[in-house]
Amino acid sequence: MAIIVSACLLGICCRYDGKIKTDENICVLAKTDTLIPVCPEQLGGRPTPRLPVEIKNGRVVEKDGADHTDEFIKGAYEVLKIAKINCVKNAVLKSNSPSCGFGKIYDGTFSKTLVNGNGITAEILNENGIEIKTENDLKA
Ligand code: SF4
Repeated sequence: MAIIVSACLLGICCRYDGKIKTDENICVLAKTDTLIPVCPEQLGGRPTPRLPVEIKNGRVVEKDGADHTDEFIKGAYEVLKIAKINCVKNAVLKSNSPSCGFGKIYDGTFSKTLVNGNGITAEILNENGIEIKTENDLKA
């Protein structure tokens, strides 16, 4: 089965802080499935490293209010294109991210407070019928 995966979970250096944080639980899926790594923020044109953002009032903003919503939407639709090209029906995405988070995301106050909601890419994939799990679901 082909699965879209947040590239940072597979050790690709695309996180906002430029750190590599490989999730070995996700990497082992490659033994049985075809993993397609994507980073919607890079696909939307954001650099690495970059300042952190959160979703506030439906917009993707840095702490000082700089708005990157358009790039996040662009990246989300690029991921959807990749999913459609490969007939992908499943995704494993990084929890809590303003792009990839599913079910819980940070609340826009930059205080590490989680609220119910989805990142921009997770929302668009979900709307298009792709079943989403996070790395936490797979741990459980
Ligand atoms: Fe990882 Fe998604 Fe953030 Fe890219 S946008 S670094 S894939 S969580």
